[in-house]
Amino acid sequence: MTSMNLDTSDELLAILLALAAEHQAAVDAADERLRQEREDRERREAVVSARDTVGRQFRNTLAKVLAPEAWRGYPSGEDGQPPVAVAHLGNGIFLIYEVAKPGSDPWGISYGRLILLYSCSCGTYTEVEIRDEYVLGPELEDAISPRCPGRYARPGPDEE
Ligand SMILES: [Zn+2]
Repeated sequence: MTSMNLDTSDELLAILLALAAEHQAAVDAADERLRQEREDRERREAVVSARDTVGRQFRNTLAKVLAPEAWRGYPSGEDGQPPVAVAHLGNGIFLIYEVAKPGSDPWGISYGRLILLYSCSCGTYTEVEIRDEYVLGPELEDAISPRCPGRYARPGPDEE
């Protein structure tokens, strides 16, 4: 910094503060851009994986009624929640596709989970994983006429 000829330390500090603020703003803007890019990518990938999983594992049921654009993607959450894609099946019943957590499968095949989410009239939510289309019918019937579970059905993180 030989080019700067500063008369007083006040001047130096003022310039230093301005430089530091400028640098911080530039780094924050770059971080924000990266975060938005990551979130867009996660949304897109969740939707693509959801369509793919339904097309492969639920080809006789869900794949026949769910339009590709029925899915809406959401990025991962700060609490470690993986990216998800959500489709509304009607009647307040939602199908959630949860992207597999990286490293969750030692064989490197990362199938996500399909979850049926519905609520009772008391406001209690139930989430149930739909492993294949054979069990879809009974699970859907429960979702359409929920028995009041009186509890939040999703297992906590330490139970998974
Ligand atoms: Zn209830």
